[in-house]
Order: sequence, then C-alpha cells, then structure tokens
Amino acid sequence: MSAAEARARSAFRDAADPVFLAASDRVLVSVPPGLRVGGELMVGQRATFAVADPATGATVATVVDATPQDALDAVAIAYESGRAWAATSTRHRSDVLHRAYAILMERRDEIALLITREMGKPLAEARGEVTYASDYVRWYAEEALRPAGNVRPGPEGDVRLLTSRAPVGTCLLITPWNFPMAMATRKIAPALAAGCSVILKPAELTPLTSLLVADIFREAGVPDGLVNVVTTTDAAGLSRAVMADPRVRKVSFTGSTPVGRTLLAQASENLLKTSMELGGNAPLIVFDDADLERAVEGALTAKLRNGGQSCTAANRYLVQEGIADAFIEAFSERMSQIVVGNGLAAGVGLGPVIDQRALDKCTRLVDDAIARGATLATGGKAIDSAGWFFEPTVLVDASDDAEIATTEIFGPVASITRFSTQQEAIDRANDTPFGLSAYVFTQDLDRAFTVADRLETGMVGFNQGIVSNISAPFGGTKHSGLGREGGAEGLEEYQDIRYYAMNRRQTA
Ligand code: ADP
Repeated sequence: MSAAEARARSAFRDAADPVFLAASDRVLVSVPPGLRVGGELMVGQRATFAVADPATGATVATVVDATPQDALDAVAIAYESGRAWAATSTRHRSDVLHRAYAILMERRDEIALLITREMGKPLAEARGEVTYASDYVRWYAEEALRPAGNVRPGPEGDVRLLTSRAPVGTCLLITPWNFPMAMATRKIAPALAAGCSVILKPAELTPLTSLLVADIFREAGVPDGLVNVVTTTDAAGLSRAVMADPRVRKVSFTGSTPVGRTLLAQASENLLKTSMELGGNAPLIVFDDADLERAVEGALTAKLRNGGQSCTAANRYLVQEGIADAFIEAFSERMSQIVVGNGLAAGVGLGPVIDQRALDKCTRLVDDAIARGATLATGGKAIDSAGWFFEPTVLVDASDDAEIATTEIFGPVASITRFSTQQEAIDRANDTPFGLSAYVFTQDLDRAFTVADRLETGMVGFNQGIVSNISAPFGGTKHSGLGREGGAEGLEEYQDIRYYAMNRRQTA
C-alpha cells in the first residue's frame, strides 16, 4: 500500500450495518449506507441525505453526503489501484467482468426492486433495466479481449509504426437518475475493461442502486479502490474538486446540456478526455405510407419507456396529414388504457415521474399548450396522490410558440402536430439545437434512408421506438453531446492511442 493510499484509508471508519429495505414480501435488499471508497464503507459521524420513493414520497433510505475532500480521498485510492489494474492482462479483466455479470443477473430481482423503490419505474421495466445494464458488463468482458492495435510501414520504408491502446487513467463518472443502473454500468464496464479506475457520482435522487452495484463488483473480485461511489448533494463542489486533481484524466457525464457545458469548461483546465451524453428533443416522424399498427406501437414505446423520462424519448410527434387522424385516434386510445400506479404493483404500465418539479413541469407544459390552441386527446393532469403521478397525455396541434414545442418534456406527455411534405418534416425535425435520436416510420426503404441521412441526429430508429442497444454506439450530435457509449466505440472513450516508431535499417 502506498503512503497516499494509507493516508486516504485512515480517513475512513468501519462500515455500519447495511440498510435493509423490505422492497416486497419476498425480497429483502441490503444497501450499504456509506460511500464505497477503496473497499471501505465510510459512514460514522457524517452528514446524510434522504432518498425518496417517488410513488409515495416516503423516505427509502438515507445515505452519506460526501464532501469534496471525501472524493479526493477516493481519487488517491483510485489512482493507486488503477495503476495495478492497468498492468493486469485483458484476460484477467474479462474474467472479473464475466463474474460480475453472473452475479448481477443472479441478483436481478433484488436490484430491480431497488430501482423501482428509488426511481419509480414499474418492476417489469426495472428488471429489463437490470438485464440491459448487466449486458454492458458482459459485452465489455468480451470486448476487453479484442486487440486494438496495428502495424504499418512508414511511407519511406525506414520505420515501422506500431499503435496500441493504453487506459486513459482515473475517471470521474457522473450519472443521472433515470436509469440508475444502466447509466452506471455503461461507463464502469468499459472503464474497467480498458484498465481504468473510477469514481462514480450517482444522481442524488437515486444513489442506492449504484452502491449495491459497486458491492456486487467487489464480490465478483474487482479489486478494492477501482470502483468508488461517492453519494453527495454537492455535485458541483465535488466534481470541481475531482476534476482539478491532476491524477484524474477523464470525465464521462450523462445529464442535461447546461451541466454538460459547465463540465466541459471545467475539463478544459486539466485537458481531461470527455464523454458527454446530453439532452435530446427527438422527433418521431410518421409518413402516410407507414404501417399504422407498427407506428402506434413504436410511438408508445418511444414515449412510455421509463415514463417518458429518457433522453431518447420521442418529444415531438410529426405525423403526415393523410394518416394523422387515424394515428391520433389509435395512439390516444392506447395511451388512455395505460394503468398508472406504484411500480411495485402488478399490471402497472406507468409509474410516477421522479419528483414534484417534474410533475409541475408536465402540468405547466400541458396548460400552456392548451392556452395556445392545442386540443387534448387524452389525460392532461396530475393525479391526486402522495406520489408524483401524471396521466398519460396526448396533445394535438400545439402551436410552435408553445413551450412544449421546444422543451425536453421528460414525462408521459405526447405532443402531435401534422406535416404535409417530406421536406417539411425534415426541416422541422432539424429545427432544434439538439441531435440525439429520431424515429422514422415508413414502409418505403428509399424514403427511410433519404430522410435519415438528412436528419441531424446521432441515432435513427426505423419503424421502432427504441434505439438503445449494448453493441451500438449511443450518442448525439449538436447540443446532445460528444463521444459514444456502447459498442467498440464505447471502449475507445477510455483509451488513449499509443504509437511507437521503430527504426528499420536494411541489413545485407
Ligand atoms: P437532470 O436534470 O436529469 O437531473 P442534471 O444534469 O441536473 O440532469 O443531473 C445529472 C447529474 O449531474 C446528476 O448526477 C447531478 O447530480 C449532476 N450534476 C448536476 N449539476 C452538476 C454540476 N454543476 N457539476 C457536476 N455534476 C452536476
């Protein structure tokens, strides 16, 4: 153990008993209550903050409120552990990640319950998130083994140029609340596969899942100090301190564009490598020649997955005039049948939004759109309850000056407007500073590619309302971010290219 590590470790107290959550009659989830730093749980006389269940408003658990100094202690440990990890074989890293995958899947129900408790999505969806999130761990266990280097001759024939990939080093990972597990594993898994160590700062609204996942990584044999979780209400202070530390070499962020912009400015000080998955304003375009049933199905997925609280959620439905009435009727009918309630209950299709602020925003957007001439096809208001529930809502013909036309909704509210020509659809779809995802529904292959090629987004879904896939490069253009997560590209975000020039003298 180095002197720095010993000093940092001496700052921590021993773990107290974990918090036990009776998430249902069947499953008891134990959550470590403290920061997971260097294999130690920091608890003791520390400030804490409460995590609320959005379905009831009740406190689920309290966790330690880390200070910037706590995070710097984590940096010291992460830096030391990372150096040893970088020297391990890729086979070893792959084996550890495969073990983590197996345990994550074994404990799927437990993690899913925790996700539902702290974030609100229905249990079936939470299970889906655990599978999806764990799949990143398996994917990068496999990807860790793929050689990424090459040899080429210099043009004059006098040198051989060798390239290989080196781990970027210690990384700060900042995640949002909407996918408490998937947003974490999609960063942690490629970081570990590449040979990096991490400090994860989960969203203050959903810190529990990350603590449990970090515990599972530890159980799988991830060495202490590689995956540190710092839960805090002081995101700005903590991030600023960590990014100013010269031992940190990268920041990967998923969240809003304004915060991403701030982090990019801060990252410039230390020239950190950055990955930014930021906001979206996805258009969903339905052409007259679309298969109505598939379009309605896709439109539902693109809105209701995660209760509309996803950066890839369809935000603007653009429907061609010939199919518009039929689409609006069928889609509104399906939206009105969705069962809203506590995600722990059977048969629930839509849980609460994350907090009071999100609920107020849905109400404001809907009221404003109606005041400016939109009509309401179904839903339209908050549900009177202790939790934060909003009715599945469909608005039709909102005007361009309504706030909903330009704002990321992040709730179960769909706004449908009509268009006449392909060019109009493309122009309106691109009329936003964001460029994350778009959806196109048509049965004409030429049209599908013509439109997709002209859309200014990083991802396009054809005849389906979902683009996320562990093996695909997820990411955006314009104000939606920089870099990609998932696929082979997601690993490169945690690697630097090394190039070696080898002198090559001709021999007789
Ligand atoms: P959302 O609106 O979805 O909550 P945010 O961008 O505010 O999105 O939050 C995403 C993540 O960024 C959360 O973990 C949050 O704590 C963190 N965060 C918010 N503000 C800052 C900041 N100034 N510096 C670093 N992290 C921040």
